[in-house]
Amino acid sequence: MANIVLDKLVKRFGKQVAVNELSLEIKDREFVAILGPSGCGKTTTMNMISGLLKPDAGTVRFDGSVMNNIPPGKRGVGFMFQNYAVFTYLSVYDNIAFGLRIRKMETEQIDKEVQEVARLLQIRHLLSMPASNLSINDMQKVALARSMVVKPQIFLLDEPLSNLDAALRNVMRAELKKIQQELGQTTVYVTHDQVEAMSLADRIAVMNFAVLQQYDAPHNIYNRPKNLFVANFIGSPTINFFEGRYRGGEFNLKDFSAGKMSVSKENKKQVDDSIRGEDIVLGIRPEHLKVGSSRDGVSGLKAKIVSVEPLGSKTIVYMHPDGNPSAILKSSMDSDFKPKIGEMTSLIINEKNLYLFDKKSADLVMRFGS
Ligand code: ATP
Repeated sequence: MANIVLDKLVKRFGKQVAVNELSLEIKDREFVAILGPSGCGKTTTMNMISGLLKPDAGTVRFDGSVMNNIPPGKRGVGFMFQNYAVFTYLSVYDNIAFGLRIRKMETEQIDKEVQEVARLLQIRHLLSMPASNLSINDMQKVALARSMVVKPQIFLLDEPLSNLDAALRNVMRAELKKIQQELGQTTVYVTHDQVEAMSLADRIAVMNFAVLQQYDAPHNIYNRPKNLFVANFIGSPTINFFEGRYRGGEFNLKDFSAGKMSVSKENKKQVDDSIRGEDIVLGIRPEHLKVGSSRDGVSGLKAKIVSVEPLGSKTIVYMHPDGNPSAILKSSMDSDFKPKIGEMTSLIINEKNLYLFDKKSADLVMRFGS
């Protein structure tokens, strides 16, 4: 059993606040991803969990015990970083066995453990090879095997797949998830890659500028983003935002010449009750913003098609709203949709797919249809 509680953690480097009052609870056996742009404080958070850094304020607890003054080697954590540590003068086998020998495990048991972890990571055929002969992909697997074999209750992974090529990254992602479920370790995984976080984690902690923005299951992070930052950070292509004002049941949207969009009777009361200021931002994901003939465009909003990206399974259509040629809108359409570049088109928006944000606070005010 190993649960982790971070309580109001603060870390500063001089005047720079790297992590600001971070509170998180990671349950036993949970897989949590810490996700955010470069410099947002992910690695600093991880280093406070492992013990490599001491917080300036707040506590780190494992199973209720305060860890702040416990050195890394005594915390029962295994970690693996982007710059993996593999001894190139040893064989793959000896690299994996290294930590077990330090723990003075019996030779027979060591062999059992090494073989087992090599089987999980599909590197049994490499065991007798010198580590210096390995490809980068295999080196990464050996580094992972080395950290896993000692069976730490808590496993900390900092961008472990970032040096791998794209194909192996996909394979390793699936493998990691399987292995973590099999071994049942509490896992914290730092990444700036939203696909990794969404596909691997039970819960994602999204950070920006040293502050936790949202901590939730991947489905909720995508479907119920707490603020503009999370809505924009998650999703590819990114969500569309329409800035404007709300008054008397109508959105007046800046980037469109016919910029009025009425709120349906059934939603008007909820909007009136929830809204805090007149300045709003509407969000709609590309898969919900459809391109159609003027007859279909119930919103009355128009845009000019400027480029098209056929992706095989779908086609991404890029447009300028008709009132602002420097803004870009994205629509994800079926692959058989054949748009004409330069054409003025209507936007089809179903109200139930809209997010309403307060511009000043950047917080989500409501999601229509929920
Ligand atoms: P990346 O994805 O680029 O690794 P990150 O989200 O992991 O970024 P951190 O490495 O935790 O971010 O850094 C958070 C902030 O603290 C950054 O502004 C960084 O420059 C600063 N920082 C981190 N370590 C130190 C240090 N040892 N000395 C001074 N500043 C630091």
